[in-house]
Amino acid sequence: MAPTVFEKSSNIIFLLTTLLILPVFCISSKQSPFQFLENLQGYQKGDKVAGLHELKQYLNNFGYLNYNQENLESNSDQKDDHFDDILESAIKTYQLNYHLKPTGVLDSKTVSTMMLPRCGVSDIMINGATRMRAGQKKMHHHQKFMHAVSHYQFFTGSPKWPLDKTNLTYIFNTNRTSTNTTRAISRAFDKWAASTHFTFTQIQENSWISSNITADIRIGFYSRDHGDGYPFDGPYGVLAHASAPTSGSFHLDSDEAWSIGPVPDHIDLETVALHEIGHLLGLQHSSVIDAIMYPSVSDGMAKELHGDDVQGIKDLYNKV
Ligand code: ZN
Ligand code: ZN
Repeated sequence: MAPTVFEKSSNIIFLLTTLLILPVFCISSKQSPFQFLENLQGYQKGDKVAGLHELKQYLNNFGYLNYNQENLESNSDQKDDHFDDILESAIKTYQLNYHLKPTGVLDSKTVSTMMLPRCGVSDIMINGATRMRAGQKKMHHHQKFMHAVSHYQFFTGSPKWPLDKTNLTYIFNTNRTSTNTTRAISRAFDKWAASTHFTFTQIQENSWISSNITADIRIGFYSRDHGDGYPFDGPYGVLAHASAPTSGSFHLDSDEAWSIGPVPDHIDLETVALHEIGHLLGLQHSSVIDAIMYPSVSDGMAKELHGDDVQGIKDLYNKV
């Protein structure tokens, strides 16, 4: 069982690098970009506490608040460290989605749930167009766009692959991806194929460079800002993200300590791949904790497809 996913030929470089950065790495290895949440535990509406704006950004990133450039002016109060009504309402929605008591208070269970490593795809898709067209400015209207997730769900507008397109091709966008890595991700595709009407075919890496073949799904490992507006954040925090049909982009955070199979302090690659393929096929997040489409995953843990995931695909593609 390989503890990390690295190419053989770079093993020596990796070893040297590891020795050089080991002291730093040991101190920071359990640090998460979501660590700031620890300092916010116990706060509630009416409080003012340094770092609360980071929570607002977090909730915005995952769909529980809705800032954007257009209404930045009217939202400037949300960029500060005041625990206001809107923040309380966003936390309640989060708590409902994650089976927590919807108190709107940053209790310890809420904080520890929020700190888990997770998928970068937003939990709630807010129909931006409708909001814009309706000219919603009053923030008390915000709440009606929120809904708790009961089980599997689809992206807004239920985008999906054409019904006659049952074979999807995928390609790794770098020839430096190790065999262990590609095999783990291929196993995830195989598991989806075994439970749905889809089949998946890998296109070899050299055709990425040598031809203009475009695979349906393009997979790559990236660090930090990688040009799509959704930068990764180093170890832990956001692990990966993928697009709704039929865009087919599937990105993994190269700064994670990925493992093949469950290994303590590592993130199981196959589990995350299973989750992201669910997005690629049209599933959004599920609030069923055992479903692969549940947004977060603990380190050292492996998950499989769940009935909720399979039922979601059958429902989306009318294969019930
Ligand atoms: Zn996700
Ligand atoms: Zn990306």
